[in-house]
Amino acid sequence: MPSSAFSRGALMLCAAIFCLQAAAQIDQTYTRDTKQAVDQDYTQRIGKYTTLPELNSPLTNYLPASATVPTPAKVLGDVSGAPDILPYAEDVYRYFRMLESASPRVKVFTIGHTEEGREMIAVAVADESLLKNYKENDARLTKLADPRTINMSDAAAEELVKQSVPVYYLTGTIHSPETGAPTALMELAYRLAVDDAPYIQFIRSHMITLITPVVEVDGRDRMVDVYKWHKAHPNENYPRLVYWGHYVAHDNNRDAMTLTLNLSRNVLDTYIGWHAQVLHDLHESVPFLYDNTVGDEPYNAWLDPILTNEWQMIGWNNVQEMTKFGMPGVFTHGNFDTWSPGYLMFLAAMHNGISRLYETFGNGGADTVERILTPDEYSRTWYRQNPPYPKVKWSQRDNNNYEQTAILVSLRYFAENAQTFLNNFYLKSKRSILKPNDSGPAAYVLPGNEESKDRQRMLLDILRAQHVEISKTTESATVSVPVKPKRETREEDAPAKPQPPKTEQRTFPAGSYVIRMDQPYSRIADALLDRQYWAPNDPQKTPYDDTGWSLPSLFSVEAVRITEPAILKAPMQLEKNDSEVDSSSGSGSVYLIANHADPGIVTLRYLLKNATISVTDAAFTTSAHQFPVGSLIIQNASADEIKSALEKARLTAIAVNAAPSVAAHTTTAPRIAMMHTWLSTQTEGWWRQALDKLGVPFDYISTQTVTSEDDLRSKYDVILFAPVGGARTPQIIQGLPMWGNALPWKKTELTPNLGRVDSTDDMRPGLGYNGIDHLRHFVEQGGLLITSGDSAQFAIETGLAPGVSVVTHGDLKVVGTLLATTVVDPKSPLLYGYSKPLTVYSEDGLSMNISNTLGGTRAPRLGANEERTTGRGGPDDPDVPQGRPYVAADERPHPKPWEAMPLNEEQTRNNPNVIPTELRPQVVLRYADKESLLVSGLLDHGDLLAQHAAVVAAHLGRGSVLLFANNPIYRGETIGSYPLVFNAILNFDHLTPPAPTSASGAGH
Ligand SMILES: [Zn+2]
Repeated sequence: MPSSAFSRGALMLCAAIFCLQAAAQIDQTYTRDTKQAVDQDYTQRIGKYTTLPELNSPLTNYLPASATVPTPAKVLGDVSGAPDILPYAEDVYRYFRMLESASPRVKVFTIGHTEEGREMIAVAVADESLLKNYKENDARLTKLADPRTINMSDAAAEELVKQSVPVYYLTGTIHSPETGAPTALMELAYRLAVDDAPYIQFIRSHMITLITPVVEVDGRDRMVDVYKWHKAHPNENYPRLVYWGHYVAHDNNRDAMTLTLNLSRNVLDTYIGWHAQVLHDLHESVPFLYDNTVGDEPYNAWLDPILTNEWQMIGWNNVQEMTKFGMPGVFTHGNFDTWSPGYLMFLAAMHNGISRLYETFGNGGADTVERILTPDEYSRTWYRQNPPYPKVKWSQRDNNNYEQTAILVSLRYFAENAQTFLNNFYLKSKRSILKPNDSGPAAYVLPGNEESKDRQRMLLDILRAQHVEISKTTESATVSVPVKPKRETREEDAPAKPQPPKTEQRTFPAGSYVIRMDQPYSRIADALLDRQYWAPNDPQKTPYDDTGWSLPSLFSVEAVRITEPAILKAPMQLEKNDSEVDSSSGSGSVYLIANHADPGIVTLRYLLKNATISVTDAAFTTSAHQFPVGSLIIQNASADEIKSALEKARLTAIAVNAAPSVAAHTTTAPRIAMMHTWLSTQTEGWWRQALDKLGVPFDYISTQTVTSEDDLRSKYDVILFAPVGGARTPQIIQGLPMWGNALPWKKTELTPNLGRVDSTDDMRPGLGYNGIDHLRHFVEQGGLLITSGDSAQFAIETGLAPGVSVVTHGDLKVVGTLLATTVVDPKSPLLYGYSKPLTVYSEDGLSMNISNTLGGTRAPRLGANEERTTGRGGPDDPDVPQGRPYVAADERPHPKPWEAMPLNEEQTRNNPNVIPTELRPQVVLRYADKESLLVSGLLDHGDLLAQHAAVVAAHLGRGSVLLFANNPIYRGETIGSYPLVFNAILNFDHLTPPAPTSASGAGH
């Protein structure tokens, strides 16, 4: 309407006037160099693409001109943040290399490659003299990073601080739909290299700015493809970015603990290699700029408080300065808790630096569109006094203005306080080394006699990748350790009594691994090896991510927390390179491999494709070696093949002349398909990655493949349907709505980076009812379907798991929590190699009930409906009807929560719903009793989950459907539960109980 258009115009005019007034009050330290010419065309375009004057600042509303250094327009064809332009990583790199050629203030480094082979870079920007001498500077920072090298001398540190400049590391677009950072960082680098404003000169002469413009390079190129498709089909819906990196989507920012992705390792190695003080990661999801590092409680409990104060200093300065510029919607408090150390930026927090993260506003591409905010986004709060507008026309240029302004403000503040932050860096490093004598612990010891060397090695590999020093004892060492509470022996329902800490002497054998806490990177080791406790009454009711991650529990590896500093005096050596390769001993052509639930077992099976491999169904002993049930007997493989396979699988074999006489069955190398949906590939990506890393081959198929293929059994033995992530069964069946246009995901000339992992002409169709039938046929014909989380619920709800139901949640609260389990079926091949109670990861507290009939006739929970009726006697006496002799009822069965209600004759007579005995579901693992259920993280109302089934094998025809309530393969963290899946694969045809000889189908 004309009237509203008029008032809108008037509003914009007022805003412009206000902006001029605001500019007049600006801190003079941001003034420009009036002698330096401005690039008029570029500057004019910045103004044109900025949708409201107040969405820019005096720092970025112009671009200085240079006769020699190219602006981003040289590569982009327009300015950074211009509408409709989203450059590929390659183009971004091309620009940085042009900068490097044109300016001695810029240097480009290759820092590694992605899973798909794309390059990752880091760009250093500083004065020519700083860049020329960056190695000398780094030599000083190296000493500050490890104060042991200067004998912890504060005086020596002070000298080093005076001579040094800090390194501030910026990382862009780890999250592929958050698209603004690369162009913002291109222009930022230009400004830092070219602008002669006094404050910029000060920045580049007092610090090194290091920039990785694209962190998720594979995902960036796919995102640009999708955006190009969108521009080519302007009136159509465009495909969602279903694949980001090769394996995972937004979880690429949850990999900072286990470092399974190339991008995490490349960024960490760059951060550590430069001895940087800050790692600042750029995101886009919150209007207009949320400097989220200050965030909300609870803060991670392993941080140095100096760091959390630094967050406040830099964060509030950021908000204050941008408020002065008149930019709306800048804030630093908010709903992000900093509990988990899984975020990329936390690599710095855990390595004595400063972690930072921005959420700016973004449109998921370079379109300029009107955005409508929700009340929680635009309301004024105590920490957001100048909130974002309820409605705003937002452009990628607006995003680039905010991002650059905020970074420039931060860089200036950091440069001006460089000495303080360098001194803090030294102090934090020193305090990390002093840890044994203040907060403790002194060390963690990983005993040398750990049963699974494989899982222990995998845990140590993570610590090595985290740049943690590992020592190995050269003699046995005896120290006092806390006495473990004996969790299995407690009376059920007995209240947990707080016990005074008791200690006992414990001797660790020579060859035990010691993670000393008197080292610079003790904090990351401590955070990963310790346990977590999130109080159920914590004021924070919506944890941002997982609440528990204790890696020793998840790896099922013992790591003893030792507070007594005496452990540090035990004879030990710093481990140099512990890549010693296990091999075989003994002689003969039969090889025996003890199974200790090692992930390497499955690797070996697929490496020795032509060998005859048997899995023993009983434990045995030979030539003084113990072999648990599930151990391997390998025949028909050459010594060379065995040696090479053992090296790759990192396992040890005993060679003997003849196979031992022990019950065993042969295991082929089962043919595996991994089935994904087109809804989301986020969570299944972790499964795909684990299989790839362990060398387990599989066909990657989608629900659409299964819709059209009925003869799955002739192709596959096992189908893995990993969790989709929050998918409901109707969504899995129906897919996306079929109205509108097709959504292709495939490689074309326009979209060369799509379709690399999988492709389809149309992402919309789901599994369909045909697909369910095809899965059912597959199982009935002897196949194994493995499900977890939402895919387990899908199997239950579509009738693929007769007799299994989902336990109602009630008030139960589990948020990425580690929970203890108890073995129910010790004979299950799933548990081959397991010798101690297993901790599992639960996303949300899913658990299952089983029943002997379809439709579920499980009894109410123990205790309910147990009260006697009104009548004679006391509460424990029977009610006695008068006028006839008393007839006692049969005692009611009291099945445990993990058991099925036994059926009596009345219930089984002529009841077609009764499941034949051999097809009844079997519980393999259940959740532990409530007193011992919580291992790590948040658990509230755990009694609703305690004792219920966690892992169930259901049966259909000749095959099985395996249901995991937990997620056994998750973020490279749950190594201890991986072998549950691998055991299932290797024994896929041994999970069904043998059919009874008599035809007594009904229950008894
Ligand atoms: Zn993000």
